Amino acid sequence: MQNMTRFSLRLADLRSRISAACHEFGRNPEEITLLAVSKRHPADAIREAAAAGLHYVGENFVQEAIGKMDQTADLDLVWHFIGHLQSNKTRIVAERFQWVQSLDRVRIARRLNAQRPFHAPPMDVCIQVCLESEPGKGGVMPSGLATLAKEITELDRLRLRGLMAIPPPSDDFEVQRDYFRHLRALRDDLVAGGLQLDTLSMGMSADLEAAIAEGATMLRVGTALFGPRPGTGA
Ligand SMILES: *Cc1c(COP(=O)(O)O)cnc(C)c1O
Repeated sequence: MQNMTRFSLRLADLRSRISAACHEFGRNPEEITLLAVSKRHPADAIREAAAAGLHYVGENFVQEAIGKMDQTADLDLVWHFIGHLQSNKTRIVAERFQWVQSLDRVRIARRLNAQRPFHAPPMDVCIQVCLESEPGKGGVMPSGLATLAKEITELDRLRLRGLMAIPPPSDDFEVQRDYFRHLRALRDDLVAGGLQLDTLSMGMSADLEAAIAEGATMLRVGTALFGPRPGTGA
């Protein structure tokens, strides 16, 4: 029998973190989907993840992702775009990805809607929300969320699934939790307004316990699964 690979050791570690947090905060692990964030890792890393049963893959850069899709075309994977989406890349994203989690402008939503191939199912989308007081690296400000959500639900080739956020990094569990509680409250407001949303995409390698505590249904995990990203040492 083969020794456990570094990947399978990391995955086992990650699963035990998730189940400990679920136990502590009264969550059912089956309600939580793991998205394997493979940016800057090679296609072989995705292959290893798929062999271990992970089929949701997240990528930030379009060209990089397309290369890996072509190299893993034999696998049954669901690709999520989680990076900043420029309008000149919407067509290829509409054609090659099933999810976009980083939607934050109606103009991009309309382009994806128009460019989604007719033979494909509607695109699953999350609105990315900026949880900081200043608009920064992406995400709609909470004050603009309800309008954007309404505009997206009027587009029949998009299916609004929920919200995503990348809070500023903090080592303080309570601070992490405050950000995620805010995102959950924003989701609850939309649901109270009549939208059907099933996804709260929040929590990464460093803050997934706090996200689980606040109701995350999708964790986007890179480093804790694949190790440090090659390249910039991040
Ligand atoms: C890179 C990235 C992640 C994964 O981050 P890790 O800290 O490596 O787990 C999750 N979400 C988004 C949007 C990312 O860009």
